[in-house]
Amino acid sequence: MSKEKDKNKKESALKVNDGIDEPSQINPDVVKKFLSQKKTFSIEGIIEGIKNGDRVALSRAITMIESLNPTHYELAQKIIQECLPLSGNSLRIGITGIPGAGKSTFIESFGTMLTNLGHNVAVLAIDPTSQISKGSILGDKVRMEKLATNPKAFIRPSPSAGTLGGVSRKTKESMILCEAAGFDIILIETVGVGQSEVAVKNMIDFFLLLLVAGAGDELQGMKRGIIEMADAIFINKADGDNLNKAKISAQEYKLAMHLLPPHPAGWVPVVDVCSAITGYNLDIIWQTIQNYVNLAKNNGFFDRNRQHQEAQRIYDYLVEELNLFFWNNDKLQSEYEALKQQVLQQKLTAYQAATILKSLFIKLLSKI
Ligand code: GDP
Repeated sequence: MSKEKDKNKKESALKVNDGIDEPSQINPDVVKKFLSQKKTFSIEGIIEGIKNGDRVALSRAITMIESLNPTHYELAQKIIQECLPLSGNSLRIGITGIPGAGKSTFIESFGTMLTNLGHNVAVLAIDPTSQISKGSILGDKVRMEKLATNPKAFIRPSPSAGTLGGVSRKTKESMILCEAAGFDIILIETVGVGQSEVAVKNMIDFFLLLLVAGAGDELQGMKRGIIEMADAIFINKADGDNLNKAKISAQEYKLAMHLLPPHPAGWVPVVDVCSAITGYNLDIIWQTIQNYVNLAKNNGFFDRNRQHQEAQRIYDYLVEELNLFFWNNDKLQSEYEALKQQVLQQKLTAYQAATILKSLFIKLLSKI
């Protein structure tokens, strides 16, 4: 059923996923039933389905990951645990650029090209703006139409609920399941507005930045940091009258790239032009990614980077969890407010206030 729904919606990865269960709508009996039902509906059935590449099982498990219901989320963790040993074998590619740069058009063409080369492609997304904008930033247009119905592709929109940390964690967990289901290329789409790039950088092997000609960094809302993170920059829409402009823009970026610190993999980021619509240079992009992977695997950076990412994520999740505990705790909140007043009245220093809060925090934590 969810497959049908997914199909009809023709999801775009950056659109808000509105299919997440709200806690109030969930009947706890359903979960029990869910566990005891025939194989295809059980956790074991879902795990087996994922391992066999069944996308209904995959969609179902991702819905559980995205669910706000703790029971569902816990069941999802069991599935992830089982799938973990089968994960890690894909090539993880991040794609970013401001809205309108052509990301979804690009993913449609590039993803289709990759499936034609025999790859199984999953498209996921991190869109921290979706919660605020409810996806309006991206409009209601139907995107990635062809890829959405391609049997070798799987498209999943950005989880909409939660903080950036929460959203990116859910995307990472979905990625594990996609890998276990046999998708060997994962494309993660993100909006080029800042924060989400850092989150996505922590879960991918290669970062592609799509730009358009004729707009300066300022206009494109691109922070220098995002350019620094890119393993390749392609100026999209290099077709028709725009081709020359795109080439000039690529030259400018090439020069600017010399000013950036050296790439940690010993790689020289590639800057070139492409057209998502005509398909121009999409093969060059794929070749560039493969060249990078060869280099990074040979010099050990590829594995080192993945290990570093995992370690970094433990840190990030821990900070997120501790933060959530802190700010969701009434006692800590009221103590914070009281101490803040004392700091504002210069009766306490900020550090003293923080130390008192830390002691209370530890005391409360030890009671869990
Ligand atoms: P996104 O917001 O970054 O996902 O951008 P879209 O893929 O929705 O594209 C925004 C607009 O740019 C759409 O009208 C596309 O048709 C157009 N577009 C995307 N790629 C190209 C391209 O390579 N050439 C041209 N001429 N237009 C493009």
